[in-house]
Amino acid sequence: MRVQASDAGRVASWIAEARVIAVLTGAGISTDSGIPDYRGPQGLWTRDPGAQRLVSIDAYLADPEVRRRAWASRRAHPAWTAAPNAGHRALVDLERSGRLVALITQNIDELHQRAGSSPELTLELHGTIWQVACLDCGRRTPMIEELDRVSDSSPDPPCRSCGGILKSATISFGQPLEPGLLQRATLAAASCDLFLAVGSSLTVQPAAALCGVALAAGARLVIVNAQPTPYDQLAGAGGGAVLREPIGEVLPALVAGLADLSAGAGAAG
Ligand code: ZN
Repeated sequence: MRVQASDAGRVASWIAEARVIAVLTGAGISTDSGIPDYRGPQGLWTRDPGAQRLVSIDAYLADPEVRRRAWASRRAHPAWTAAPNAGHRALVDLERSGRLVALITQNIDELHQRAGSSPELTLELHGTIWQVACLDCGRRTPMIEELDRVSDSSPDPPCRSCGGILKSATISFGQPLEPGLLQRATLAAASCDLFLAVGSSLTVQPAAALCGVALAAGARLVIVNAQPTPYDQLAGAGGGAVLREPIGEVLPALVAGLADLSAGAGAAG
């Protein structure tokens, strides 16, 4: 009888053999750190579809009540106390193995950098909640400073330079992505031979389309996500795989052999 290697085992060997790896992460990698995702079974928008309105730029600009609610939710955001988890740390190990060309993330929580991933490799497509940007003059300030200004009498503090509307330095629906970042992410997807998409529903563009860019360039696509994504079939058809296991368990397993590999390469060299 033929023994079939487990999917995770096959993916681990692909990762060990890949020359250039690009990673895309979504909210699913941070749920173990206590930051809820958006579209999962317990997701913010699954439970409260109206909450999605808080992240539309048109509503934010037009409606002071939307801004007041946004500031209140920023004050209560779990990112301020969250710590990186085993999934984030596994991607640091992957970077140390020397083949990671980009860690593209849809997350705004900076947990990758806090886990130890290089800020230079971490492409925050949707911005960061740790910074505030003025929508009029573009001035950026630390979120912690601006949260200190939020109070019952000042529920929506204006820019201290120009009086304009302030918002977290995140990309809301209706706002363009930073072109330079998207260009770097696209180049990484087009130049890798293995593209690993972790914890993303792959339904938000243009982030999800990076999977298509990688496939078109001949890369193997590996998806790690609890729920089905629109790219699952393409991943399989392109010689890749889909893993449904919990991210915090499967990512460490996928990279467990890499330290030995690089140690072995060092000894041989
Ligand atoms: Zn301003």
